[in-house]
Amino acid sequence: MMARGEKEDFEKEFERCLKLYSGFEEAEEFLRQVFNEVFGFLERKKSISLVDHFPLPEKERTREDFKNGKSLEYKPRIKAEEILELLHILCDVFIRVNPGLEETVKKAKERFESFLKTASEFVEFKKIKQLWQELEQENLLENDLLNFLFINSLSAIYKNSHDNIIEDLPKQLWEEGHCCLCGEKPHYGLLRYEDGAKILECWLCGTRWGQMRIKCPFCSNETPEELGYFTVEDNKHCRIQFCNKCKTYYKLIDARELGKTRKIVLPLHHLATLSHDLLAEKEGFLPGSGLRWVNNQDKNL
Ligand SMILES: [Zn+2]
Ligand SMILES: [Zn+2]
Repeated sequence: MMARGEKEDFEKEFERCLKLYSGFEEAEEFLRQVFNEVFGFLERKKSISLVDHFPLPEKERTREDFKNGKSLEYKPRIKAEEILELLHILCDVFIRVNPGLEETVKKAKERFESFLKTASEFVEFKKIKQLWQELEQENLLENDLLNFLFINSLSAIYKNSHDNIIEDLPKQLWEEGHCCLCGEKPHYGLLRYEDGAKILECWLCGTRWGQMRIKCPFCSNETPEELGYFTVEDNKHCRIQFCNKCKTYYKLIDARELGKTRKIVLPLHHLATLSHDLLAEKEGFLPGSGLRWVNNQDKNL
């Protein structure tokens, strides 16, 4: 999601996405409630640290690492009670918007409670990821809701804490398919307005970096015949980029089609184009990010 102070960018992007993507208005009420709650949460917590900060390597060392394709794997531990609070807040929005979810969401909340009771003051990212995967296997919530819940909680906290760090990274030295700061694999990116360059964005920490256009971020395949993209009839802004070698996909928003703009809030474009994810899976590709947005019941349609 986004950091404090980005509410205005978000509002503007929301309006634009409503115009660009047909059907997005169906999710409007839900998303507005979610984002208001997240911004409210970040505002209330602005005087405290939501993560356990640890120092980054020296600048020279970082430059060397980046040149060698080594990510900093920077995922500080998160304050347990804060991530718990945010997960609960979002669960409550789910129920408000769709009361039919009350029973399943209640079960999810109980799981969060008991998981975090056993945690100490700070909890590691991989522990939270484990819980997320367990819930996915148990099929307690549909994939899209479950991903939405965890991605927005985790990314709100990390993006909010990492703002200054990201600015200082020597990202021009980085050309891998995963995030130079945290190491996660991207789910979306954009083609830059100015020159059409491919820019990937980390779903977790929001870092953006450039990568050669004809290259699969996930298996580094550079064979043009094995790489391609498709779009959907009434929406050419969003491309599904696929690789026939490793059978993965990711999405690119063509910013050249959007006109000059100060900032593009990509997570919103992603949420507005979930139908593209379904299409990609139907064509036999899996998300290189590892984040399955397609619900089990939709796969057979
Ligand atoms: Zn990242
Ligand atoms: Zn590939």
